[in-house]
Amino acid sequence: MSSYRFVNYSWDDAKAASLDPVGRLVYRSNILGADQRITNTGGGNTSSKLVEKDPLSGEQTEVLWVKGSGGDLRTAGREFFSSLYQSKLVSLQKVYGERGDKGLKSQAEDDMVAAYTHCTFNLNPRASSIDTPLHSFVPGKHVDHMHPNAIISIAASKRCVELTKEIFGGAMDYVPWMRPGFELGLAMQEIARNNPGTRAIMMGQHGFIAWANDDKECYKQTLDFIEKAAAYIDQKYQAKGGDAAAFGGGRYQSLAQEKRSELFAAILPWLRGQVSQQRRFIGTVQDDEKILRFVNSHHAPRLAELGTSCPDHFLRTKIKPLYIPWDPQHGTLADLKKLLSEGLAKYRQDYKAYYDKCKHDNSPAMARREPDRGAHPRPGPDRLGQGQERIAGDRGVLQLRGGSDARRGGD
Ligand SMILES: [Zn+2]
Repeated sequence: MSSYRFVNYSWDDAKAASLDPVGRLVYRSNILGADQRITNTGGGNTSSKLVEKDPLSGEQTEVLWVKGSGGDLRTAGREFFSSLYQSKLVSLQKVYGERGDKGLKSQAEDDMVAAYTHCTFNLNPRASSIDTPLHSFVPGKHVDHMHPNAIISIAASKRCVELTKEIFGGAMDYVPWMRPGFELGLAMQEIARNNPGTRAIMMGQHGFIAWANDDKECYKQTLDFIEKAAAYIDQKYQAKGGDAAAFGGGRYQSLAQEKRSELFAAILPWLRGQVSQQRRFIGTVQDDEKILRFVNSHHAPRLAELGTSCPDHFLRTKIKPLYIPWDPQHGTLADLKKLLSEGLAKYRQDYKAYYDKCKHDNSPAMARREPDRGAHPRPGPDRLGQGQERIAGDRGVLQLRGGSDARRGGD
């Protein structure tokens, strides 16, 4: 591989050396979370198994420090990590094993989540993530669980198992999609026991988990796995014709930056009003080169309709973006408003139809989709729409975000 990397190491030895073990975990988490190619906002979690003095016995004991429920890796401080007795977490396997009702989505699974509180070390008040058993039951002292786009592209593909082997050889194993929780932790433990050479697991339709006994090694390894996936995809992408084949070239001539800003100023307050009819949103505008390449492409309408490919992306985009075709050179502001109004009406209709088709008995009402603490994104409407809309048009993407997103649990 050449010296060019998709994801660059940003680990600083001097900085790490100045920190205590939990500080190093926070540092590792922050630099992982700072790069959107490594994990999405609010997505992924990290852990370290550290030996500490037990305040109850004075003995040295192993403590799992793991990113807790809520917050974002990029900004999470020490208070965002829960600390649990590793031995107690492992002993829950016996309790779980004796339950007659165990299995995915079982009451026993849910009861294990409630039991994490009983494993708390040193009265740490941070609520544990539902991903805690994943971190506890894999063998590495340091564990990173990330949702990188490059890995998700493999994880959400039809040929995931085959591609994982082809790209990573024996270094990465595979587990099919499972709602994160106790069963998934046990499945990962089994995989690691059966294949002691494995250092990572591809999580079908989800992301991946990787571990090492040294924290810097864990960090670098996580990036190397992402790098490998990205390089593989890029090589195939270029071989198939690159951007021209993927997007079919540009449709319209772009507006100059100044004109674009004027247009945003004219349309955004109105648009915000349009999307805030049921709930108030604030918006983010993205009009960088990559976004423009996509939204202005010939294939954008078809690609936007394909929708999202993994549960975590539902949280950001719902099932699909609203795409509006508009020619900035010839279209008027009134045309654009009309197209947006019609598009939004159709989008709401489509979304309601989708929601009604997929909802479960216990799904929250569509208009109030507050995240349930400790829950994890999973396919289905009960994890959709954390108050976000995304509107893609010829001039950029407008993301509108409600206030509840930062409080969602799980990873
Ligand atoms: Zn995850």
